[in-house]
Amino acid sequence: TSFGFKEVREEEKSQMVSDVFSSVASNYDLMNDLMSGGLHRLWKDRLVSKLNPFPGMKHLDVAGGTGDVAFRILDSINSTKRRVLEDAQDDDLHEETQIYVCDINPNMLNVGKKRAIGRGLRESKSLVWVEGDAEALNFDDNSMDGYTIAFGIRNVTHVEKVLAEAYRVLRRGGRFLCLELSHVDIPGFKELYDYYSFSVIPAMGELVAGDRQSYQYLVESIRRFPPQEKFASMIADAGFQKVEYENLVGGVVAIHSGLKF
Ligand code: SAM
Repeated sequence: TSFGFKEVREEEKSQMVSDVFSSVASNYDLMNDLMSGGLHRLWKDRLVSKLNPFPGMKHLDVAGGTGDVAFRILDSINSTKRRVLEDAQDDDLHEETQIYVCDINPNMLNVGKKRAIGRGLRESKSLVWVEGDAEALNFDDNSMDGYTIAFGIRNVTHVEKVLAEAYRVLRRGGRFLCLELSHVDIPGFKELYDYYSFSVIPAMGELVAGDRQSYQYLVESIRRFPPQEKFASMIADAGFQKVEYENLVGGVVAIHSGLKF
């Protein structure tokens, strides 16, 4: 049946995604820097500044294996804390901040854990590493102040399920933020970007990571992902309010956001 066919294809997709990330995990940081010319760092900074992290918050970063987003959130909270403490001259800010990093791939989580140790965060009680699927989260309803997913939602099998789960675990007033490679629609720039992604990226993948196919797949997955407006309407369909998005670098990436009321 066509249903049976779809099932097989979905299984293939998650297997393929898992293979891709197992194979790229070790070269992950280097490839990110090369492919984005270092810009992914600024994009993640922007994501976290939109989140407005605060001391004591419970936050879930999904598909966050390498810890890139989580570390930024912690840094931001620590600098807020310092400022507040300097102003207030007291030390009563001891709520337990909890940043959960959830990823389906243990190799990616290991990259993150190693980096946490490198940053002196081995004993940090604020960081919690969780192996889990964005489509079926192991967290309670209404338990999170914030939810982020950076360069993760494009690769899941059912985007709707991920959005429904994000909505479920957020408390009322909680913010959903998604950073994702998106669609460029500016004449001239679009052709340049197409050339870059279809020719340069796979070649880079081959040269640096010895893996052309994985990077070819990553580029194709960008094209298949819904454009900004469509994705915004999917977020609204999941129940989020005040859904909006910001394009960065002409839509190479977009940050979508929504609130749970
Ligand atoms: N957020 C990190 C960053 O921005 O550097 C990592 C992004 S990486 C491109 C995508 C991550 O999504 C991988 O670590 C992969 O294991 C994870 N992933 C893929 N499918 C997932 C799922 N269904 N649930 C949770 N994580 C998933």
